[in-house]
Amino acid sequence: MSTPITRVGIVGGGQMGAGIAEVCARAGLATAVCESDARAARTARERVTVSLERAVQRGKLDRISAEHTLEHMVFTHSLDDLADRQLVIEAIVENPDAKAEVFAALDKIVDDPEAILATNTSSIPVMRLGMATRRADRVLGLHFFNPVPVLPLVEVVASLHTAPETVAVVEDFATGVLAKTVVRSQDRAGFVVNALLIPYLLAAIRMAESGFATATDLDTGMELGCAHPMGPLKLADLIGLDTVASIAQSLYDEFKEPLYAPPPLLQRMVEAGLLGRKTGRGFHTYDRG
Ligand code: NAD
Repeated sequence: MSTPITRVGIVGGGQMGAGIAEVCARAGLATAVCESDARAARTARERVTVSLERAVQRGKLDRISAEHTLEHMVFTHSLDDLADRQLVIEAIVENPDAKAEVFAALDKIVDDPEAILATNTSSIPVMRLGMATRRADRVLGLHFFNPVPVLPLVEVVASLHTAPETVAVVEDFATGVLAKTVVRSQDRAGFVVNALLIPYLLAAIRMAESGFATATDLDTGMELGCAHPMGPLKLADLIGLDTVASIAQSLYDEFKEPLYAPPPLLQRMVEAGLLGRKTGRGFHTYDRG
């Protein structure tokens, strides 16, 4: 791609999509966020507004910049509004069929055949999403970390079909425009960080499930004993227990190792809608305001 990326689209405005959109708009890019319906689009806007307000309150951002950030953003529920984008980052729910459907639709809608389609998936093979399009050479994984405005890492994941030029353009964009630090991973479920992190979170869930220790003691143990900023069950709550379960399932499907199998307690909590911070209750309870 010869022209610099100035117009980006984000599909999905949940905790990750809203965060990715925020960092793009804060970098001065024209940022369009597409959600599944009008109500979800309003919620996505609200999510970004709250996050910007928090940054202002904490002295990380001045009020004028926060206002400018919102001026760079549009929120929609029609993928057609992403037709003129040079880079689209998909960040919808961790469901392979839903993501493949979005990629197939984007491939038809995004006009510029050189435009790059990226996925923020944590565990679904990038190849599978590339194969849903006619431009697998321009599809790759761009995996951000939560909360996106705070954590500096992104994993860049090329599939067997991704062109080296696509990787180079996106790495330059991530480091130069978004000021992130890049690590590269093979296209294997979980990439680098989740392949290491998820078995640890699942081990903590199994320990809570068996009564080995309470959720609070497990978290305190790792916070005070290992200087982790957040214990494993608080972290699972932050990620979202539905997302943790989906990533674990993808890892298990890929490697067939028992350490990746989602424990029954995790499955039951997801079925019960106890998804962690985003629903107010997971292993701990949260004030939803
Ligand atoms: P989330 O549940 O907070 O948000 C998902 C959003 O996608 C929802 O707002 C939903 O309305 C929207 N959506 C669903 N189908 C859609 C469609 N067809 N078109 C447009 N929008 C649609 O989930 P999240 O935590 O933001 O995770 C999103 C992705 O990011 C997943 O692939 C997840 O694995 C990945 N991820 C999550 C984390 C994390 O810590 N939560 C970290 C890195 C990557």
